[in-house]
Amino acid sequence: MTDAAQSHYRICPLCEACCGLELRTEGQRITSIRGFEADVLSAGYLCPKAVALKDLHEDPDRLRQPLIRRHGRNSPLEPASWDEAFALIAQRLPAVTAAHGRDALALVLGNPAAHKMGLLLYFARLLRAAGTRNFFSASTLDQMPKQLQSGLMFGHWLSLALPDIERTDYMLVIGANPVASNGSMWTVPDFRGKAKALRARGGKLVVIDPRRSETAEVADAHHFIRPGTDVFLLAAMVNTLFAEGLIRLGPAAPWLAGVDSVRDAVAGFTPEAVAGRCGIAADSIRQLARDLAAAPRACVYGRIGTCTQAYGTLVSWLIDLLNTLTGNLDQPGGVMFAQAPAFAANTVANTAGQPGVGRGVTTGRHHGRVSGAPEVFGELPIVQLAEEIETAGPGQVRALIVIAGNPVLSAPNGPRIAAALDQLEFMVSLDIYCNETARHADVILPGLSPLQESHYDVPFPQFSHRNQARYSAAVFAPPAGQPPEWQNLLRLTAILQGRGATADVLALDDELLADDLRRAGAAQPDAMLQALSAWSGPERLVDLALRNGPYGDKLGDPFGDQPDGMNLAKLAAAPGGIDLGPLQPRLPELLRTPSGRVELAPPLLLADLPRAWADLAAANGQPGQMLIIGRRDTRSNNSWMHNLPTLAKGPERCTLLVHPADAERLGLSDGGLARVSRGAASLQAPVVLSAAMMPGVVSLPHGWGHDLAGSRLGLASLRPGVNLNVLLDDGLIDPLSGNAVLSGVAVQVEAVAAVGA
Ligand code: SF4
Repeated sequence: MTDAAQSHYRICPLCEACCGLELRTEGQRITSIRGFEADVLSAGYLCPKAVALKDLHEDPDRLRQPLIRRHGRNSPLEPASWDEAFALIAQRLPAVTAAHGRDALALVLGNPAAHKMGLLLYFARLLRAAGTRNFFSASTLDQMPKQLQSGLMFGHWLSLALPDIERTDYMLVIGANPVASNGSMWTVPDFRGKAKALRARGGKLVVIDPRRSETAEVADAHHFIRPGTDVFLLAAMVNTLFAEGLIRLGPAAPWLAGVDSVRDAVAGFTPEAVAGRCGIAADSIRQLARDLAAAPRACVYGRIGTCTQAYGTLVSWLIDLLNTLTGNLDQPGGVMFAQAPAFAANTVANTAGQPGVGRGVTTGRHHGRVSGAPEVFGELPIVQLAEEIETAGPGQVRALIVIAGNPVLSAPNGPRIAAALDQLEFMVSLDIYCNETARHADVILPGLSPLQESHYDVPFPQFSHRNQARYSAAVFAPPAGQPPEWQNLLRLTAILQGRGATADVLALDDELLADDLRRAGAAQPDAMLQALSAWSGPERLVDLALRNGPYGDKLGDPFGDQPDGMNLAKLAAAPGGIDLGPLQPRLPELLRTPSGRVELAPPLLLADLPRAWADLAAANGQPGQMLIIGRRDTRSNNSWMHNLPTLAKGPERCTLLVHPADAERLGLSDGGLARVSRGAASLQAPVVLSAAMMPGVVSLPHGWGHDLAGSRLGLASLRPGVNLNVLLDDGLIDPLSGNAVLSGVAVQVEAVAAVGA
């Protein structure tokens, strides 16, 4: 093996911005990580997390070998061979479903799976083989309201209206912090640079948030809003558009249905009616609506804070109503729809099928067994995982497979989830760490380092601010004997299909792909398989999807009639990817609603509005109560990056931000400890005084609490932080989407007396 210096192009798999990186290596050593200037999407941008890919690759705590409990649930996790690990799974898992039925097995998919093509593409195969209704994911801790609202309005779960930031004149950001995140459900690397360019060309950026966030710091204006009241503010803005004759439907007008119903639905939500509840003056609410309507090209973007609340789906809807009713839907400089080159575009179908009409989306095809929550996009609310394990009866969850997930830290009432996991008869985790959730497993199957895997952004081109396609090969070969994750998922699939632990997974892969092609009605499935034979595993699926996508060489029917079109070989030969241009108008072709219209007034949403109306009259909290919100830090992302030295160094990040006036009233001091409690649950966190907080609101980041016995995160455990989700109520959800309420929960805050004081 040579130790000569080499350069590698690599898409960063750590967050939704999907930046292109240039890694330099000498042998097995990484010598530098930089932004790749030729990347068609990120043009050299990177954030501090990217540099930590080296830490992640080298992390001694990253698992390289399976761990199993050889002698039952109470025995320790010990290193094992791959064959031994799968033999144990084959011995124990089918026995549970054979005795109790398919729903006795639940699957949990975590956020990092979205960034691993092997996991995401082969999870679908596992889920089909499992045949269970008990599927949970991080989506119901995050963006499910946005997906449901988009599905109801546009007909497809993945048809999200994205801000066209590079051409807009006015951008309103609510409940999002893209300077820290670089977009979420919106792939927009270097948001800060794009915001600067917006302002430099005379445009305006306005932020609404209970914290003067990093995004608010670079904006023209910022308004505090009381957490959880976005629904009232946005309804009042829509109301103002109608009341002041500011409705402008623009070129989308022929495809809009339900404008009058919207006007009637928001009639009572006047600025005066909501101002006190939101903490924003009525005149300011009117001016926000007027400014949005007056801008030649404008967009409204909302994200995590607008989804993780009791009215998440209504809020997501109102955001797109504002975009639509000001004439900015599907318009350059407004909000537009990406046309992804693969997957979201063709196999999941907002490009496939008959253009302009479809089946739309439905929810509630089945329900949670205990609380009765409706299935949404095939999922049940993850906050209800514990009760499905705890509650006896037909369909009780007795076995679990968790894939790249950590609900013990990331979901409300983590201690209850942890206790429930201990009641399981059998549990498998696929993870790179023995984290706070994986420590409960009977078998942990480690994944590869991201640098040992090739990469295609499966979901994110559908959310990209610009159409593009990129692929990067693995930087390092995987260690001898360690299978890639897609093969591990296929092995689990084979076990659930009754083929045992030693089935030939490559033959199974061929068989399943041939089934896919036949089900899709391919006229020449054998010829298609032959044409794909240069690739295997996930690459083969990417090649197929690219070739049959909107820019592809059309491997399907008619066969290969676009020879200049895209395929994976061409993409792999283009370091930095292929730019497919700015977003283009897609109405009415994009629509997949039964009516062939943009449904502005879906009955499911109108029926939920009275709940908000009734809540409007509620009091603004109890005396002494504070509202707690999370926050995003550039050096962190959920729960799994706290073991990386590059990101862990520096000041403590798991701190409670408190406005100085609140601190004085509560007897809190900068650097002192606060006890934050809700009912019997409480935690203690160091206080940082911050005038950036709205008075009456405190902020604590989520994903911390790395001091639980049995997890193996050495560095993270030295500064574990505390778990915000311990305080949160697993009974609180947005009833339409099943999304957890993580923001705006009322808590008590008090000073912790110093020892010896
Ligand atoms: S913003 Fe940072 S973590 Fe996210 S993709 Fe870009 S470099 Fe990676």
